[in-house]
Amino acid sequence: MLLLDRANLPSDTLSTHYIHSSGLALLARWGLLDGLMATGCPRIEQISHQVGDVGLAARVPAADGVDFACAPRRQVLDALLADAAISAGAHLRDACEVVGVPFERGRPAGVTYRTRAGGRDTVSARLIVGADGMMSTISDLVGSPIEIEDQRLTCIYYTYWTGIKGGFELYEQPGRLVGALPTHNNQTLVFAYFPSAEFPKVRTHALGSYLDNVRATAPGLFDRVAASARTERLRGTNQQRNFFRQAWGPGWVLVGDAGHHKDSITARGITDAFEQAAILADCVGDGLHDETRLSEGLQRFAERRIARFKPLYRMALLAATLDVSPYRLATLRFLNTRRDLVERYFAVSAGIIEARQLYNRQLFAQMSAHRTAATQ
Ligand SMILES: Cc1cc2nc3c(=O)[nH]c(=O)nc-3n(C[C@H](O)[C@H](O)[C@H](O)COP(=O)(O)OP(=O)(O)OC[C@H]3O[C@@H](n4cnc5c(N)ncnc54)[C@H](O)[C@@H]3O)c2cc1C
Repeated sequence: MLLLDRANLPSDTLSTHYIHSSGLALLARWGLLDGLMATGCPRIEQISHQVGDVGLAARVPAADGVDFACAPRRQVLDALLADAAISAGAHLRDACEVVGVPFERGRPAGVTYRTRAGGRDTVSARLIVGADGMMSTISDLVGSPIEIEDQRLTCIYYTYWTGIKGGFELYEQPGRLVGALPTHNNQTLVFAYFPSAEFPKVRTHALGSYLDNVRATAPGLFDRVAASARTERLRGTNQQRNFFRQAWGPGWVLVGDAGHHKDSITARGITDAFEQAAILADCVGDGLHDETRLSEGLQRFAERRIARFKPLYRMALLAATLDVSPYRLATLRFLNTRRDLVERYFAVSAGIIEARQLYNRQLFAQMSAHRTAATQ
């Protein structure tokens, strides 16, 4: 197996980096979680979400025995993953950019890439796995069409502050969401979401807009930010695209953001990329060298991808409307009357249980009974 990456690894990327407990459970299955935690990445055991005047808080929901989350810097995480791939027998060539896909008898036969030294090389491949991000070159070169697409909803700015204590904190007001995540080296990532339509205005005074958002949406967090020091430049993007591309074709398959991207507001991209990789490996199994079995495996991957990620995609779109309606607040207020419902709320947010396992007829009947009892 050959891995090509155009970046000089390990490198940072434009992304915050919360990993849900279900993503960490996959790292544990691959034997990588202990190594990650040994890098000094803080365990995140508590999560809180303040929506308007309703404050929900719980322990991070457990997935497959892992009862914490974390937010490792990408230089650390990506280096760990690259080393693991090499240990498993893969050859890694970084600073090598894929620029072409030669076809033989209508089927992609490999990739052409620019080498670290500036030359060009072509390698043949039985299966090209396009794991090259939202702007995927591979998807363009193999001609994978977009099958589902929705408009962009949010833009985000974030940076790092030193000495802020706390777990994973989220604060939401109409049209605004702010959060804090502890990461390596006593740093806290503080991010601020705005509606995408505001991007032209926000970017004109990005740092001021970011601080205004934190101050207005999360005043308590703002006080802690104001008392600490910023350690990195502010970064932001309006490229929060929402889509599914065709998952596979003869000789190619797309994994991670390349095949499916959604607003980062539910912080699921990394966890989902891990899940997709696990599903792909499971579906292809040892069928790589048998054309029929390979096609069947890739088709199974496509079906499982849409079944697993379409509900999470819909949830991200909903969250990205940054809507704090009276109805939503009333629902959250009711959830807040019972610990088990709050725990389920965070389990839905983490993708550990499906939304319909919480937001169902039974819940709405209980809410209605609660309202009736309160008015008597
Ligand atoms: C602002 C922001 C905040 C986010 N916050 C979170 C969060 O908190 N938690 C979370 O889980 N997700 C988050 N995400 C999403 C997350 O970053 C992505 O979903 C995740 O990185 C997807 O991984 P990937 O491997 O598919 O793509 P990427 O991480 O984009 O990796 C693609 C790789 O392909 C390489 N590449 C690209 N083109 C070529 C080429 N032509 N040739 C060779 N190599 C190439 C790149 O160098 C890169 O290494 C956020 C995203 C953004 C933008």
